[in-house]
Amino acid sequence: MTILDGKKIREELLEKYKRIIQEKDLNIILAIIQIGDNSSSNTYVKNKEIYTKKVGIETKVFKLPEDIKEEECITLINQLNNDKTITGILVQSPLPNHLDFKKLSRLILDSKDVDGLSKNNIFALRDNKEKILPCTVKGILKILDYYKISVEGKNIVIIGRSDIVGRPLTDALINRNATVTLCHSKTKNIEIYTSQADIIISAVGHPSLVTKDMVKDQFIGIDVGINYEDGKIIGDFHENVKEKASYLTPVPGGVGPMTIAMLIDNLIELKEGQI
Ligand code: NAP
Repeated sequence: MTILDGKKIREELLEKYKRIIQEKDLNIILAIIQIGDNSSSNTYVKNKEIYTKKVGIETKVFKLPEDIKEEECITLINQLNNDKTITGILVQSPLPNHLDFKKLSRLILDSKDVDGLSKNNIFALRDNKEKILPCTVKGILKILDYYKISVEGKNIVIIGRSDIVGRPLTDALINRNATVTLCHSKTKNIEIYTSQADIIISAVGHPSLVTKDMVKDQFIGIDVGINYEDGKIIGDFHENVKEKASYLTPVPGGVGPMTIAMLIDNLIELKEGQI
């Protein structure tokens, strides 16, 4: 079984990005809008700050109070949209319940939409005219490319239909000529689908959701899930799938590092489009 080592790819890419930013003298500034004091958001934002800094990108975090009104968030997004010094903007999820992540993300200008969630970027993906892809989606495609795993003609099962992973990933894989089945919490007998799949991608956030009895021999597993158990980070796949996998992403060290690398990739792409 081959481990799909996202951490190793990230390190290689960070070197490349640092060089590009220095050589082209790109002055890139990322604006992150964080609302409230959610502990996972704090971790995600900290990570983004650490890795962008490593390659010479400045990050400005706009931390807003938990009870902020929607209009005030909209005002900030508009200000950042109009600020020529800002290269990319993202709204950090999860948000407090009274705010709509999709609505706020879609107010970000296409030219600054580093998470690929604006209406035009989503429509371009659906239309097979991809522009900026959501970072996790791009990261998964990059891992597969790196290990020369073609998706064309493959039977792929995605579990989880979120706007940031499952849905855009479905479109991206269809664009690459895969046959895609998208499963979710209302799917009955998920094992009927997973047991036929060449590639299984799980983005749920449920430990041990996918076990060895649900997969076929030599399947390829991409584990997006992040779960905390006994002080450890684990994915959605049970340990025992290793017995049947041909390739597998570890958690941590698989998709997570690629998501952060693709955030930087997208920022460089946006900056080059703005020059
Ligand atoms: P999300 O918005 O949390 O939604 C979870 C999805 O899983 C929903 O579509 C839900 O179905 C489905 N689901 C829930 N229970 C299920 C079950 N028992 N069987 C099948 N499907 C089930 O999704 P997300 O934001 O994409 O996050 C998913 C996981 O990926 C989380 O653990 C998150 O932390 C992780 N994540 C990791 C990265 C990374 O870079 N590694 C990036 C993003 C997310 P319904 O739609 O029917 O409710």
